[in-house]
Amino acid sequence: MPKIGQETKIKQPYNQHGGEGKSVMQRYFIWTIGCQMNKAESQQITGYLGSVGHQAATSFSDADLVILNTCVVRQSAENKVLGTLGLLKGLKNKHPNLQILVTGCLVDSDTQELKRRFPQVDLLFKPGDYHELIAWSERRGVSIEQEASLSTISSPCAFTPIIQGCDNFCSYCIVPYRRGKEVSRPLGEIVCEVEELVRRGIKEVTLLGQNVDSYGHDLPEHPDLADLLNELSSIDDLARIRFLTNHPKDISMKLIDTLASLNKVCEHLELPVQAGDDDILRAMRRGYTVERYRELVHTIRRKIPQISLSTDIIVGFPGETEEQFEHSLSLLKEMRFDVIHVAAYSPRPGTIAWREYQDNIPSEVKRERLHKIEELQAAIASEINSQFQGREVEVLVEGRKRGKWFGRTRSNKLVFFEDAGDWLGQLAIIKIEKTSPWSLRGEVKK
Ligand code: SAM
Ligand code: SF4
Repeated sequence: MPKIGQETKIKQPYNQHGGEGKSVMQRYFIWTIGCQMNKAESQQITGYLGSVGHQAATSFSDADLVILNTCVVRQSAENKVLGTLGLLKGLKNKHPNLQILVTGCLVDSDTQELKRRFPQVDLLFKPGDYHELIAWSERRGVSIEQEASLSTISSPCAFTPIIQGCDNFCSYCIVPYRRGKEVSRPLGEIVCEVEELVRRGIKEVTLLGQNVDSYGHDLPEHPDLADLLNELSSIDDLARIRFLTNHPKDISMKLIDTLASLNKVCEHLELPVQAGDDDILRAMRRGYTVERYRELVHTIRRKIPQISLSTDIIVGFPGETEEQFEHSLSLLKEMRFDVIHVAAYSPRPGTIAWREYQDNIPSEVKRERLHKIEELQAAIASEINSQFQGREVEVLVEGRKRGKWFGRTRSNKLVFFEDAGDWLGQLAIIKIEKTSPWSLRGEVKK
């Protein structure tokens, strides 16, 4: 079994100035914000750049190639992107050789307009469109191979996108406009990729899609996520499989039964509810009611009692009354999720909600509602996690932070422990000694 990162191939050192003669490697810095899909895509870009000998830099100022992997799901994320582009403009004025590449959800179909707004950027490419990146590199005299995206691995956990885009058009969401229609990757291609990742030392794979329950509907034989999980489960040396995000209107009994029956598939689901009120859910165009969601969670918990559940919720959707917000709060109290990602509604130009509704909930009210949910969830997560006190859990060790090893349990709980040994990529049994709403701490048993 290779050690993690062992198979990084250096194919063709880069000459920064495109001239002949001495080869100069480029130092690259990838700045990423947003969802797991963005993180996965940055991991793939790292693979491409590593495969041609570029070295990771530690900051913008230390780099001669910068890649911004952007998110515009909320205005706050977009503001960070715009601020960073401003900072890079200044840096490029001082260092004209600095190359700036931009990808992620900022990149819409009107790249001409983006080029006009951000003349400091050398290349804009749509999320996952590596042909553009490869062609750009080719024009500069460096050929990157299509398969090279796996070449730099520094963790035992990898993300594997299985379906791009989204066909749902929830009224608040910009993702379908930026990532396009759903396109599934062929099942065989995903299996080959995961086999290769495992050969390179990966122990855990997380399958990604905006809606993994749509996986396969556009493929010739219509395989679904359950079929894919069955195939992946037979890969020796792959210890764990995760997937996200599920959609409450689409998740199937077949998938829930598969999750219950396959040992390698971890007992964790991300099942965004978004609101606890039927009128708001209808205005959001989510395609389910509170009652349907409640029944779904009961079924999942009955079939998989040890399941851990995460959810997303939006507060301050246009017109959300105090009573409707209370409905969300009481659903969260009743469901007792392990993790909640809460966001204040942010109008996104071009979306249905932006066209049809006024953003009429004042920001102080949104903030107050957000804090109420955060407070409630801190108490719930604290109670749930305290049940781990004194228990032994299996942790896949992902790395070290401030002198402590860290990793996750099958149910996605973050665990820290101290030990002098080399635990990277190992499955450790940890006895939990201390718990908090956000993480667990313990000592190694074996
Ligand atoms: N596909 C997933 C789903 O169906 O929920 C999530 C994808 S979305 C990129 C991630 C989260 O961002 C959503 O679950 C939602 O809570 C939040 N989000 C999306 N658009 C938003 C908006 N306009 N304002 C506030 N939060 C938003
Ligand atoms: Fe956005 Fe809805 Fe698609 Fe999730 S399912 S990406 S929230 S449109």
